[in-house]
Amino acid sequence: MNRCTVCNSELDDRKKNCSRCHATLGYILFKGVVIGKSVLIILELILPAFFFLYGLAAQNTLGVWVCYLMLLIGLLGVGQLIMGPKWHKPD
Ligand SMILES: [Zn+2]
Repeated sequence: MNRCTVCNSELDDRKKNCSRCHATLGYILFKGVVIGKSVLIILELILPAFFFLYGLAAQNTLGVWVCYLMLLIGLLGVGQLIMGPKWHKPD
């Protein structure tokens, strides 16, 4: 049995929303919206991969920094996927 970490009420394992406090299971809370796995993959893996290639193609100092930054975002995304989703309570 899953438990909501915000209000500690018991939840159905398949449920991604807490019916009591309206917390949502997801990866990032951004401006009141909880981001799920597919959006996380797009924002932190696919988009950075695209900019990484763009940085490589630029073949200048800025391009190198873009590559480093995108690698960092990608690693963050992978880390979050490994850690799994958390409960977030949008206000
Ligand atoms: Zn709750």
